[in-house]
Amino acid sequence: MQLLDGKSLAKKIEESVTLQAKEFKNRTHRVPGLAVILVGHDAASQAYVGMKKKACDRAGFYSVTHEMPDDISQEAIVKTIEMMNDNPNIDGILIQLPLPSHIDTTKILEVVSPSKDVDGFHPYNVGRLATGLDGYVPCTPLGVMELLSEYNIDPKGKNCCIVGASNIVGKPMAALLLNANATVEICHIFTDDLKKHTLAADIVLVGAGVINLIKEDMVREGAIVIDIGINRASDGRLVGDVDYDAVAPKTSYITPVPGGVGPMTIAMLLSNTLKAAQNHGGEI
Ligand code: NAD
Repeated sequence: MQLLDGKSLAKKIEESVTLQAKEFKNRTHRVPGLAVILVGHDAASQAYVGMKKKACDRAGFYSVTHEMPDDISQEAIVKTIEMMNDNPNIDGILIQLPLPSHIDTTKILEVVSPSKDVDGFHPYNVGRLATGLDGYVPCTPLGVMELLSEYNIDPKGKNCCIVGASNIVGKPMAALLLNANATVEICHIFTDDLKKHTLAADIVLVGAGVINLIKEDMVREGAIVIDIGINRASDGRLVGDVDYDAVAPKTSYITPVPGGVGPMTIAMLLSNTLKAAQNHGGEI
């Protein structure tokens, strides 16, 4: 079994992005800029936003966080996004999810200019991904593809079973794997006999948010297991969706949690923001 080390690959990507951001600054006299919109006081969201800001600082990006109270109106969020759409110092706009229940998340995501949609959640970029065109791809599944590529794992012709069908993880993961010529199955909460599907897979990719969802008897010998889940165990530890200790010895490759997909997500956010800055050039 070999570990897919997202932590060290993320560091390598960060270093390359930092260098390219310097070159971009020399050429255009400005740095890539990221705006984050954070609504409410969810501790996990605050922690994620803090990590993203630190990563921007390390890469030499400009970043700004718009913190808004839980009871903020839809209109006020829309106005802030429109301001960021028009701000030439901002290349990427990230709406930290989840938003409070009185906010229409779909409508909010549609306000973000597709050219600044570094999370790849705007329907325009979702459509481009689905049709195999260049655009902005959601950071977590993009990070998984980078990780596979780093270890020379080609999904072409492989049976891939994705567990979890959300817009931010499972569905874009499926599109990326399909574009890479894999055979793709997507399982979700209503899937009957999950084990039947995971057992048949060469690559099992899990992002469901359920601790120990994938057990030792659900994975075939030599399979590749990508654990996208991030959960807080009752003892405070961060754990994934895979029963790691039992499953890992059966696999050929596996991602640890933490240190697997998580750091790759942040590295891809930097990479997407740099790409947006390069697309915008010196002027927006
Ligand atoms: P979500 O709640 O939006 O979606 C969960 C998906 O899993 C749904 O499609 C649901 O049907 C499926 N599911 C839930 N329970 C299941 C079960 N028992 N069997 C089969 N399918 C089941 O969640 P999300 O936002 O997609 O996040 C999923 C997980 O990925 C979470 O643990 C989250 O923290 C993690 N995540 C990690 C990163 C990262 O950077 N590594 C980024 C985003 C999300």
